[in-house]
Amino acid sequence: MAIATNLGFPRIGTKRELKRAVESFWADKIGPEELESTARALRQQHWKLQQDLGIEHIPSNDFSLYDQVLDTAAMVGAVPARFGWRAESVDLATYFAMARGSDEVPAMEMTKWFDSNYHFIVPEFEIGQKFRLASTKPMDEFKEAWALGIRTRPVLLGPVSFLLLGKSREEELDPLTLLDGLLPVYEDVLYRLMDSGAEWVQIDEPVLALDLHQNALAAFDMAYGRLNGATNKLKICLATYFGDLRENLVPALRMPVAVLHLDLIRAPHQLDRAVRQVSENSILSLGVIDGRNVWRTNLDSTLELIEKAVARVGPDRILIGPSCSLLHCPIDLELEDTLDEELKGWMAFARQKLGEIVMLTRAVNDGRGAIAEAIAESSAWAERRRRSSRIHNSQVKDRVANVDEKMLKRKSPFRVRREIQRARLNLPLLPTTTIGSFPQTAEVRKARAAFRKGEWPAGRYEAFVKEEIEKAVRFQEEIGLDVLVHGEFERNDMVEYFGEQLEGIAFTQNGWVQSYGTRCIKPPVIYGDVRRGEPMTVHWIKYAQSLTTRPLKGMLTGPITILQWSFVRDDQPRRETAYQIALALRDEAADLEAAGIRIIQIDEPALREGLPLCRHEWPEYLKWAIDVFLLASSGVRDDTQIHTHMCYSEFNDIIEAIAALDADVISIEASRSDMELLNAFVRFQYPNEIGPGIYDIHSPRVPSVDEIKALLRKALNVFRPERLWVNPDCGLKTRGWPEVRAALHNMVVAANALRETLI
Ligand code: GLN
Ligand code: ZN
Repeated sequence: MAIATNLGFPRIGTKRELKRAVESFWADKIGPEELESTARALRQQHWKLQQDLGIEHIPSNDFSLYDQVLDTAAMVGAVPARFGWRAESVDLATYFAMARGSDEVPAMEMTKWFDSNYHFIVPEFEIGQKFRLASTKPMDEFKEAWALGIRTRPVLLGPVSFLLLGKSREEELDPLTLLDGLLPVYEDVLYRLMDSGAEWVQIDEPVLALDLHQNALAAFDMAYGRLNGATNKLKICLATYFGDLRENLVPALRMPVAVLHLDLIRAPHQLDRAVRQVSENSILSLGVIDGRNVWRTNLDSTLELIEKAVARVGPDRILIGPSCSLLHCPIDLELEDTLDEELKGWMAFARQKLGEIVMLTRAVNDGRGAIAEAIAESSAWAERRRRSSRIHNSQVKDRVANVDEKMLKRKSPFRVRREIQRARLNLPLLPTTTIGSFPQTAEVRKARAAFRKGEWPAGRYEAFVKEEIEKAVRFQEEIGLDVLVHGEFERNDMVEYFGEQLEGIAFTQNGWVQSYGTRCIKPPVIYGDVRRGEPMTVHWIKYAQSLTTRPLKGMLTGPITILQWSFVRDDQPRRETAYQIALALRDEAADLEAAGIRIIQIDEPALREGLPLCRHEWPEYLKWAIDVFLLASSGVRDDTQIHTHMCYSEFNDIIEAIAALDADVISIEASRSDMELLNAFVRFQYPNEIGPGIYDIHSPRVPSVDEIKALLRKALNVFRPERLWVNPDCGLKTRGWPEVRAALHNMVVAANALRETLI
């Protein structure tokens, strides 16, 4: 019989109970017992829910107070020395200090979990790294569920992925050399799980979807040879996700484990190869429900895929599950009561997806007839969605189809534009500016909320925002910035603000997804052809510009960033959707220009994170990503200056692509790495103007004039003065006004001082 399986359940709770509890614990409002009891209640609730739905392989240890990679570091005692940890096991204080730092020591680094918007804590290793069992969490949670009568399938992050996701200060340290010392801890955990009554364990090895070196594959052989030897009674489900295993598929199929899980949403075609190559007694776990998106599954077509596998290997050797952990999905669609029935009919969140898994499993075991009604309903919704006039806008489709090369290019090359812009803008050397947002104070947030809820009439809100804009403009004039911004007070979030005004994009009320630790986000849902109705930003920007004679930047969020931070429709390629968004932004840029705005910034902080996991797919992505940016940005006249902004310091490998965006000016995050990123620009002559972030906005610390001068001098070693802009490294919305005032003041003083020496 096929088995209904889950790989992981969202841990935050439908009302973000976990966030609230953890933050209260940090604020000393609740003690460890209360935190633990909230956590326990959530785990129980989630196990029961899965049991009630009919899931047979229910995960445990998928829960985490902060992050599952951090949990793994704790499990194996990989606590960096600076945390001064000497205890038997990793206590809560140490655990949270690793995640967030403390007054004395900086946190461990955080980075994106593959190509998702979930961030994990990066393990840190040192030469001579020792591992030992330092947390019994996997066993504790297994026993906790077992006490409720639920025999779960504990989830562990696999040893090879754990090592490869980590980093070391010592460059010469190859993390895989630590495997030998790490495996005994895993063996110990498996023994203990077995002793506690576990029959199955799920070991996640997502790195199998990446380009792996031969030595990584050798590490897999060694690791699973040993783990399998240690646990003949415990069956291992080796879980891969987020991509095609390609050349890693055959090695993965050969590993001595009971089950291999494949992501058949990202890579359905690997199923054929897998069923042909799978060995006689191995089981395949089919990830056929999209764990990364919010759409209802088409049961009929999904069954066709499953039946192909069943025909080859038989139902007894099939598990049916989500493509990856449901961590990346909102929890329950039933809680949405502002989405209309039609949109809801197209969607499924974690709970609904588990229901689909149970249905599919039943169809395999009892025949399609057993779920005939569910299939009919799912097909009807699929059909309705396919034909819906809300999805298809022929005008939009025609416009995309008619995009030609000319629309992907500014009228004149940069060197020509630059002279025209220089004459028009008349800026000094080393012009100073900011990235866009100013502090989102409690007052600003309250005003927006009051307006949203209808407590404030439009007039009152309008007056409030205008007043904030005016204060911001006056402040910028006072300290002497050269290019001003309006401050983004009307925006809750740089993507949501645009999403709410674009047709074809919906918002949920409770569709929270964990981004990192206690931070949750509610991604917009792009469901149909995207079209701009009215101008989205012109009103505020035009008002701001009317207050000053200095140039004021119009602020737009770029097409890739809107795409990347949303749930995207699955019925057309991402690229197609990106083109539609770009056309909407192109219209907005034209309207800003017509309203007299001389500089337009199009932020693309997510450009890099859109990169595919495997390098051979990079060129294709970069090609269309560049094209959509160009489509959005190059409809303006030569005398309109286009800026873009990106914030991550890893530039080296895509610098040519960044140059190809042909923005007149780019501002990038650089200060945290002490201008290290400038090295990339030593090798590669960036052709246009650039503002390497001159101070770190992620910290409340106010940089001194001398410090900023020193960084600027470093930048001047790489860029000619007429190419260099002076700005912070990101928007200032998370900062308070006192530090913003002081820091920007110092920045302007430093720029002025240096400017003097250059003239
Ligand atoms: N313009 C945006 C801001 O200043 C950019 C934010 C970002 O790069 N993430 O807030
Ligand atoms: Zn930024």
